[in-house]
Amino acid sequence: MAETAAVDVAGNLARVRERIGQAAARAGRDPQEVLLVGISKTVEPARMRQAVAAGLTDLGENYVQEAQEKFHVIGPGPRWHLVGHLQRNKVKAALQIFDLVQTVDSERLGREISRVAEARGRPASMLMQVNTSGEESKYGVPPPQAEALARALAELPGVRLEGLMTIGRWEPDPEAARAEFRLLAGLFSQLRSDGRGREMRYLSMGMSHDFEVAIEEGSTLVRVGTAIFGPRPARSGVADG
Ligand SMILES: *Cc1c(COP(=O)(O)O)cnc(C)c1O
Repeated sequence: MAETAAVDVAGNLARVRERIGQAAARAGRDPQEVLLVGISKTVEPARMRQAVAAGLTDLGENYVQEAQEKFHVIGPGPRWHLVGHLQRNKVKAALQIFDLVQTVDSERLGREISRVAEARGRPASMLMQVNTSGEESKYGVPPPQAEALARALAELPGVRLEGLMTIGRWEPDPEAARAEFRLLAGLFSQLRSDGRGREMRYLSMGMSHDFEVAIEEGSTLVRVGTAIFGPRPARSGVADG
């Protein structure tokens, strides 16, 4: 968590909200349907607090340990999202912090979350991560297996499957990710319409450089880091965890 140069977090947040509004308008959508989650990996708690003070309601972290340290300082006021890969041996620690685990991509992990959640006496909310780009560097269930995994996760007693998440391919032109966002949106509406996905409300797609395309394709949750908090130190790119 390196200290970096001053960043106008409140101003950035206002600009991101404005862009969300414009993208929603282009798609004929209500911007209120789009939840903004500020992704704060490597960002120091003081800057995260500035964003919360400026109205940011949701924070996202990639690593359980980093989130633990920050949660200790910031507390449970904002909602906490896990957007990095979760190892099964960290499920217990994760459920003590995160309101929504966005990265479940196997039945094994889902079962462990369900088991720990039942032991805590509180259902755990999760999204299923889909690898829509097919890139090997990315976590997520491959699209052909997504429907079957969603059904299996939806039946676990301790969890609520509340939607889908994907990371679009990174190319300088954000249009490159549009087909992937469209694929996830199609899967989302299919799972919702067949009645199993009663609790499916989050379609998590879109980051700083492609959230406008994602909103045009139906995103209801965008994960925005650098556009709010400023650039990260060089070594921490888009980390899946
Ligand atoms: C880092 C990260 C983000 C935010 O990326 P930015 O480009 O800084 O907006 C969103 N989602 C995931 C999964 C990430 O790892």
